[in-house]
Amino acid sequence: MALRKILSDNHPVLRTRAQEVKNINSAVSRLIDDMIETMREAEGVGLAANQVGVPKRILVASDCQEDGEVYALINPRCEEKEGEEIGVEGCLSVPGQYGQVPRCQKVTVSALNRKGEKVRLKLEGLPARILLHEMDHLDGILITDKAIRMLDPEELKSEEEST
Ligand SMILES: [Zn+2]
Repeated sequence: MALRKILSDNHPVLRTRAQEVKNINSAVSRLIDDMIETMREAEGVGLAANQVGVPKRILVASDCQEDGEVYALINPRCEEKEGEEIGVEGCLSVPGQYGQVPRCQKVTVSALNRKGEKVRLKLEGLPARILLHEMDHLDGILITDKAIRMLDPEELKSEEEST
């Protein structure tokens, strides 16, 4: 496993719509391992492949449970969405900035796991928010596009103190 560099500052790959993965080979498997390691090192809760410069539809995310399990999804597709809530989000590719982002409250996503098996996830609240954030990355979308408001430095300070 190896750490990869996380792109930021509107790097063109962050703005590229990632391509479907057609072949889950050892390179994909290695990429997933590297993404998990990179995400943990950066103390993030999710990471999309284009954030490390690979425009493929692959993401890793924490399930936000206490044991801190991380899952990897390939070619994720949203099947159902329900409700809406606004929450504060940051992003490893938008360092130091936080915004209020509206997201669906519940989501059902289908994808392939790293063995190429079909998986279906039903998530709500924070895990749903993380997954939708990472899926946005795969379409070249950042929180600065979706936020109804970015927090000003004063609010940012109180936000950082609380998390
Ligand atoms: Zn992000």
